[in-house]
Amino acid sequence: QIEIDQLNKYYSTNHVLRDICMQIPKGQFVALVGPSGCGKSTLLRTIAGLETAGAGKIFIEGAEVTGKAPRERDLAMVFQSYALYPHMTVRKNLTYALRLKRQPKEVIDHAVKEISQITGLEELLDRFPRELSGGQRQRVAMGRAIIRNPSAFLFDEPLSNLDAALRVHMRAEIRKLHQRLGATSVYVTHDQIEAMTMADHVVVMRNGRIEQQGAPLTLYDRPTNRFVAGFIGSPA
Ligand code: ATP
Ligand code: MG
Repeated sequence: QIEIDQLNKYYSTNHVLRDICMQIPKGQFVALVGPSGCGKSTLLRTIAGLETAGAGKIFIEGAEVTGKAPRERDLAMVFQSYALYPHMTVRKNLTYALRLKRQPKEVIDHAVKEISQITGLEELLDRFPRELSGGQRQRVAMGRAIIRNPSAFLFDEPLSNLDAALRVHMRAEIRKLHQRLGATSVYVTHDQIEAMTMADHVVVMRNGRIEQQGAPLTLYDRPTNRFVAGFIGSPA
């Protein structure tokens, strides 16, 4: 569960997030769409604690996290560029967070077994990132996020580097993973089809504001203005 209350953010004089309010119930998959530069990544990064909020509050699982460090927030972020450690094997990449926390070997081994099964990486644990395909790397990035067992996932255009066929496949994989983990997910994409097919709830942003939000079909059938209609792809 994620709650955002009157979130505002400036980059010097640029007002990039304006009065953002969202209530995301546990288990919901939210797609965040809007034109380039409208503030999608900034919103995700602020939820994650990688950017500070100018004003407003953020709650995760009912606890206020505004001002807390990223690692004190019960969530994980998956980026477009996988940001794997190039000098570490898949196994080491996956277990980085656990090793940092000095978890015992049995705990780490058990986690690797479980996560590699979920992500289909069992055969690839001893490879280095450069020896993997784009989709496999993306799966390592997801595995690394899952292994911390967060209650929420933030995705920033995780599939935009993949080819069309793999994108279709990975959409389904991500949806399955989301369901299996009972997680709450916020998924940034500029692909309308991705938003409409994956999400329970779609948020359309424009110039730092939420223009409209609702169920995919509601936005499609009843866009409140031409901008939303154009963005969602409703007939004019
Ligand atoms: P895209 O679809 O292109 O990824 P976006 O919706 O994710 O766009 P953001 O990256 O959130 O957009 O950027 C929102 C605004 O904030 C833009 O005007 C951008 O130029 C500005 N911005 C983003 N990051 C910074 C930064 N670190 N310093 C200053 N301005 C920034
Ligand atoms: Mg972005």
